[in-house]
Parts: sequence; C-alpha cells; structure tokens
Amino acid sequence: MSGLTRGTVSSLVDELIRDSLVKEIGTGTSAMGRKPIMLQLNGGAGVIVGVDLGVNYILIILADLRAQVLARKRLSIRPDMGEKRIIEAMLDGIADIVVSAPATPRGLLGVGVGVPGLVETGHGVLKFAPNLRWKNVPLRDILQDRFDVPVYVDNEANVGALGEKWFGAGQGIRHMVYLSVGIGLGAGIVLNGELYRGATGYAGELGHFTIDPDGPVCGCGNRGCWETFASELATLRRAREAVERGEAAILRELLETKCRQAGTRDTSAATAGDSGFGADSAGATGAEDEADIARQCATANDISGDMGAVSAWLSVSLVVEACERGDPAAQRVLRETGRYLGIGIAGLVNAFNPEVLIIGNTIGQCGRWVLDEAAKEMQARGLSQLVRGVRIVPAMLGSDACAIGGVSLVLSDFLSLPRITF
Ligand SMILES: [Zn+2]
Repeated sequence: MSGLTRGTVSSLVDELIRDSLVKEIGTGTSAMGRKPIMLQLNGGAGVIVGVDLGVNYILIILADLRAQVLARKRLSIRPDMGEKRIIEAMLDGIADIVVSAPATPRGLLGVGVGVPGLVETGHGVLKFAPNLRWKNVPLRDILQDRFDVPVYVDNEANVGALGEKWFGAGQGIRHMVYLSVGIGLGAGIVLNGELYRGATGYAGELGHFTIDPDGPVCGCGNRGCWETFASELATLRRAREAVERGEAAILRELLETKCRQAGTRDTSAATAGDSGFGADSAGATGAEDEADIARQCATANDISGDMGAVSAWLSVSLVVEACERGDPAAQRVLRETGRYLGIGIAGLVNAFNPEVLIIGNTIGQCGRWVLDEAAKEMQARGLSQLVRGVRIVPAMLGSDACAIGGVSLVLSDFLSLPRITF
C-alpha cells in the first residue's frame, strides 16, 4: 500500500506515461472492483551507457532502460599507455556509441562506470587503482564535462555485483558475494539485499588479503595477497611456467598457431594482452606495437626459447581451450587457480554466511575447470554449518556484468528520483 489516494496515484501515473517512462501493457485480474491496469517500465524511453574500465580493456555498452544491450564496443588498452590516453580512448569510445544510439524520447540518461580501484563515490574520484597505477583521478567530472549527463563511478566489483543482483545470477538473493576475478581480484558484498560499503566506502578489497606473508609482491605493495595466487595474472604466470618447463604441449601448440597467424594477418585486428574472451574489436592499443609483437612472434622458431615474444599471446581463454582439448598441464594450471580461489572463498563464507558466490570477470568464464575445484576447496576448509548448500556460480551476465552494472547505477538513481517514486 502506498498510502496515497487513488487520485494521486493516477495523476502520478499519468505524468509517467506523459514522460514516456512507463507504458500500459493491458489489464490484470482482480477479485472485486475495477480490473487493475498493468504498467511496465518503457525500455525504449531512453538510453544508458555502462562502462567497464579494466586494466587491459575498456568495455562500453549502450543499453535501454531495461538493460537490454543495444550496442557493445571493446577497446584494448595497456596501463603503460598512461592515464591521459586511456581516458581519451574511453571518452571517444563513449561518444562513438552514443552517436549510434536510436532516437528516444529522453535520449542519453546517464553514464555508469566501474573502475578497478578505490573510489570516493560521492564525487566519483578514483582514489587509487594499483594495477593501472592511477591516483586521484576525478573521473566523474571528466565525463560530466564531456557528456553533460549524470555520471556515476564506483569500484568495478561493486558495480558487477549490482549488475548481477539486478539482472543476473543474484536476482532474488539477499546475501551474496560477487568476486570479480580478472587481472586483480575484488569483491562486491551484498548483505540483506544491500551493497555493503563499510565505514568509508571502500569495503570489498579482499584481493589484498594476505594469504602468504612471504608470497609474490602485489601491485598494492604488499606481499602474498590473495590476488597474487587466484587472479588472471597468477593463472597466466603458472601457464607460462608450464610451457617453459616443456609441459602443456597442447597449449604450446595453440600458442604457436596464434603466433603464426599473427605473423601473416592484418595485425591491426590483433588483441594481444587481452583476456581473449569475447574481444569484439581492438582500438586503443597502438597498431605499431602490435605489428612489432607479431614480427618477433613470426620469427620465433622455438617458443620455449622466446617466451618473451609469444607470452603476449597467452590468454586465459587459450588455457581453457587447451584444457578442453585434454592438456593435463593446462588443466592443472586452472585447478590450481580454483584451489586458491576456494581457499579465500572458505574464509568469506565463514565471515559473511552468503547463499551464493558469483564469480565474474575473466576467471568466471573458465567454468568447471576453476569453479569445481574452488567448490571442493571451500567445502573442505569452511565450517561445515556455513558452507553447506553454498553455491559458487559464474556471472550470468558473463563479461558484461560490470558494464551492465554501470547501467544499473544510472537506473537505480534515476528510478529513485522522488517524482517517480510512489
Ligand atoms: Zn595486494
């Protein structure tokens, strides 16, 4: 019950229909009195841009108000391109996709961005992104100056959690942890149906939880952080070592093929350094650099002797392909990632008692090769009363989770405006 009179409600509804924000979709059933008129959010009333700024890619999605994807653009980047060039690539990418948007009554309603670091969400300032090596970047102001619409910036794992909660595997779940496992590892923690932000808004940096005090140095400056064992970087490091040791014959063969193709095809379409999953188009990576990699690659007769050149072509999707073709060493590599993922997850389950853990980003797309081992490890290490029945599932939105989450950021604020809340 809204507490509003029928007259007030119907004048509010009239306003929403006039603004094209909702539409009538017929009449419902009622035991007594008039049949209710069913309303639905009008997806075609406007468009929203969701952006996933990764460490080696930028994914930009154009969606309608029901988060249906209208267009998608993926750019390859490298942290050493520097902050200015990467931001310019993002701004140009957004401008391109907005130009392609269909005409709608309300036009572009906003831009939501997920970024790999700590964000002061009140002002949309990226305070620290260890893997990009950025500090104090006023992203919201930069985007607002260019596009003149509301802009929302948040940590990519929080944003991915929101995307999965609204439109993916987290729908209807009140207690869940979304783990974004890519180059780094971050968490979006949903408790009682709400994103948990902590005292200063930075909660969820679980990738920097120490699991080995003497482990490898992490991008944050600490040693032995969880993400140095369970992330995409850790997986690629193990895969490279396996190839160098002369194991992983199938993976090595796939790498050689990739290398040869790179030497003969138009290198401007190469996506070296990307996750390899669903790369639509390369853009921001310098074509000259890629041509250079391809040249070195084409002349490398012995992979084990020239891993520096070919390692640029190693990707998690290639490791998954090797697993599917029966490469036992590649399978061991992903099981090891799953094992470390499960070790951390057991601790999370003990701490937060969630119903589900949703694994997003690159490692989430490795499927059973990683997730089965993670589940086994969680069951073995977690307290039995807590881990019983807990599910570990891949992100339903796949590699779109964070960008769709960006769309959700805009929607959640837009839909909570007082004029359309009743
Ligand atoms: Zn760290």
